[in-house]
Amino acid sequence: MFEIDQTHDPKLQSWVESANVAGCDFPIQNLPFGLFSNKPGAAPRIGVAIGDKVLDLRMAALVSSDDMNALMNATPAQRANLRRAISTGLARGSDQQKDWERALLDQSAVTMHVPCRINDYTDFYTSINHATTVGKQFRPDNPLLPNYQWVPIGYHGRASSINVSGTDFKRPKGQTKAPDATVPMVGPCKRLDYELELGWFVAQGNAQGDAIPITDAESHLFGVALFNDWSARDIQGWEYQPLGPFLAKNFASTLSPWMVTMEALAPFRDAFTRPGADPQPLPYLDSAENRLRGAFSITLEVLLLTPKMQAAGKAAQRISLTNAANAAYWTPAQLVAHHTVNGCNLQTGDLFGSGTLSGPTPQEAGSLMELSAGGKQPIALPDGEQRTFLEDGDTVIFRGWCERAGAARIGFGECRATVLAAAV
Ligand code: MN
Repeated sequence: MFEIDQTHDPKLQSWVESANVAGCDFPIQNLPFGLFSNKPGAAPRIGVAIGDKVLDLRMAALVSSDDMNALMNATPAQRANLRRAISTGLARGSDQQKDWERALLDQSAVTMHVPCRINDYTDFYTSINHATTVGKQFRPDNPLLPNYQWVPIGYHGRASSINVSGTDFKRPKGQTKAPDATVPMVGPCKRLDYELELGWFVAQGNAQGDAIPITDAESHLFGVALFNDWSARDIQGWEYQPLGPFLAKNFASTLSPWMVTMEALAPFRDAFTRPGADPQPLPYLDSAENRLRGAFSITLEVLLLTPKMQAAGKAAQRISLTNAANAAYWTPAQLVAHHTVNGCNLQTGDLFGSGTLSGPTPQEAGSLMELSAGGKQPIALPDGEQRTFLEDGDTVIFRGWCERAGAARIGFGECRATVLAAAV
């Protein structure tokens, strides 16, 4: 499954010269898929990022339609063939160069869209560090609930409000209740936060009633993008019991535009391990393959750009850096096996949020709620600015990349959006 082959060869170079520049997110070893349009109002087309260009797959005669979900519904063997064809055609010395040069556009000249039709969105809660730190804030005596180490906890989210990177959104309004108040009030959220997540896309689905065994789980995944699950902590604190998140989460989420495929991630896998004292996964969540290489080493970075920094021409400030493999208590394969153990039918294009990926140390936290200790310890920014939660005009940027000796570095691009003032 998703073995390393000639498409991962770190020596491979492209005739698209920008793809060969060190540190480029989109070298020929990556080849992520996205939907783009080159004119306002034009129907989105399927593209693959290469260097600072996008290859139009239909213009390059690699696909016959612009239906991304149909492409994602292909068999793993068909997907591998498509990857090899793209890699061969973009490689230096390729016969296709003349034809494909006409199918290349500048990424800076196109508009990106949400990369596929997302039918359903499920948000998991895979970081035990996040679950423990946040649990302490809500329940100081009982931070980690007893099911956590057995069940990949999740809830069904809302797909309609998922945006592509660059789509700004209004601060949500809602019902909140201060601890000392006797009745709740309604108004703009005062504790707006981001959540650093990965979004895993479902490839082929399953028939209702048929569970996907963990040994086959990854063949049902297409790829992954950066995902910001914006969260209104004050709304969440009041509404979350007993049925979990609702309006605190469903006003906006932001996806990076490029789906980095499972194939591209093959060189960046890690063993899945559990501390010896922790319960080991139940059999349906365990396999030799998952133990050997079920985790993915993806470095994740959060940057904040305030209006003041922007006005002063300052660069966005890094506020967190972590790695998904150290943050997640469950692997993507375990999420697929768990989601379907009851016979739930997944569909092509479904999105699984990983949950906030907080690493083991405090500075690796994937939300402001953790970095500011629930708003009690503001974080310091350049020029004396501070933040507990997000203010209007703040821009949050996620970046992600994979690096390993013997492999070409691949990146995810950006996941970015700005908080606008609440509607009046
Ligand atoms: Mn979340």
